[in-house]
Amino acid sequence: MGLNLLTICYLIGSITFILGLKMLSNPATARKGNLVAAFGMTVAILGTIFLYRNEETHQHLHNFIWIFGGLLIGGIVGTLSAKKVKMTSMPEMVSLFNGMGGACAALISLVEFNHISRILAPVETSFMHISMLSLVDLSVIKPTVLIIVIGLIIGSVSFAGSMIAWGKLNGKVKDFSFPGQNILNLVLLAIAIGAGAYLVIDPTQSYLLYCILGLALVYGVLFVLPIGGADMPVVISLLNSFTGVAAACGGFLYNNKVMLTGGILVGAAGTLLTILMCKAMNRSLVNVLVGSFGGNKATAAGGSKDQGAYKEISLSDAAMVMSYANKVMIVPGYGLAVAQAQHTCHELEKILTEKGVEVKYAIHPVAGRMPGHMNVLLAEADVSYDVLLEMEQANDEFKTTDVVLILGANDVVNPAAKNDPASPIYGMPILEVEQAKNVIVNKRSMKPGYAGIENDLFFQPKTSMLFGDAKKVLQDLCAEVKAI
Ligand code: NDP
Repeated sequence: MGLNLLTICYLIGSITFILGLKMLSNPATARKGNLVAAFGMTVAILGTIFLYRNEETHQHLHNFIWIFGGLLIGGIVGTLSAKKVKMTSMPEMVSLFNGMGGACAALISLVEFNHISRILAPVETSFMHISMLSLVDLSVIKPTVLIIVIGLIIGSVSFAGSMIAWGKLNGKVKDFSFPGQNILNLVLLAIAIGAGAYLVIDPTQSYLLYCILGLALVYGVLFVLPIGGADMPVVISLLNSFTGVAAACGGFLYNNKVMLTGGILVGAAGTLLTILMCKAMNRSLVNVLVGSFGGNKATAAGGSKDQGAYKEISLSDAAMVMSYANKVMIVPGYGLAVAQAQHTCHELEKILTEKGVEVKYAIHPVAGRMPGHMNVLLAEADVSYDVLLEMEQANDEFKTTDVVLILGANDVVNPAAKNDPASPIYGMPILEVEQAKNVIVNKRSMKPGYAGIENDLFFQPKTSMLFGDAKKVLQDLCAEVKAI
């Protein structure tokens, strides 16, 4: 009875994970999707705590103080940090939480190997341990050790890599690379895999487990350290899929179906997102896997060339041009998120729409600092999903757009991605705003964006700069447009 009920709990968990994921693919249902999946996870966790029974010992879980103590501490820390985190720091948090998932998977491997070591202890201490080994039923132990090794390698790489990604996103860790780093990375990984294979063949060599742990941690650090600039979202997504696979290994070890389903879903979703982002950034997945891309970006990006003069536009002129336009396309970027100007932006959209102007938003997949950043930001301000255009749709519509208003975006509209093979962002698809009749760029200065490179767009004849903090500029624009 207990087991049947537990199976039903796991089924509820698995179904809600799939439904939740499906709902996450649309901004209108994303919030609900999160709650649905969280509900399923709660059912699965409570089911495991109260209904699980060990098949051999027939014991239920009993160490409730540890379990609920952990849940309470983790729950409080998670809730407080999620409430406190600024929208612009969300990717850092995702990275940190993802790293914790990887660490959990690695710890599960360490703990489970401990159990195996206990079974093998008499063999390990024997002088004739190879011949003694043949007396132990290795047909059960070897597959378990294989899963333990896979979970340990992937979980440790995910943990170490995510910690470096976290440090990079909050500016504490700088890009670092040296000649031959890719080869060293591959050698480290090969030694870790080789050591893992040997441990599967002879599970009494328990010291190998700690060598694998160390090698995988160093690999995780070296894998992410050289990657910088525009490529960071791909890495975070890839590490996320690693954590999923590592968690699925935990599901195998504990014969826990919901853990397996959850892990596989995270692994698959992360892999798909990685592939999509690689396409969006024009990088191959192999290039990502050897950890070589994005290296030396700082030097490549540093060069500043003389691009001539840019022209400025006054608030009243900008308001005038937009008020008399037929179609205005707003391009939100990281600066809009920093300025927390999404509500004022929606306000301007409403005022212009009341004046008969068609207003839409052009959303680049990596605008801001996390996938879907701009969709989340604008959804928070109640902007209708109908006016949010994806990059391809927007690129089709720029030709018929009178005014493009760029709000704190830079890299995602940089034509160097199309025209300059020497540029570090060359090949990344961009919003082709220069096809519109007029381009107004709001930012605070001529400083570069995330990739650290200059933007030719700002010097083109149809572009005008409107300097100032996005929120203040939008407030002033609202007042000016209203007055026209
Ligand atoms: P960028 O980082 O290229 O540019 C943002 C611009 O906003 C800056 O040039 C800055 O100029 C301006 N800005 C900053 N604060 C304000 C403010 N208060 N008011 C007005 N403007 C402001 O942003 P994009 O969105 O164009 O591009 C995103 C970049 O981040 C891409 O390179 C992407 O690859 C990368 N990335 C994306 C991730 C994702 O998953 N979306 C994750 C990690 C990185 P100034 O200082 O002059 O004001």
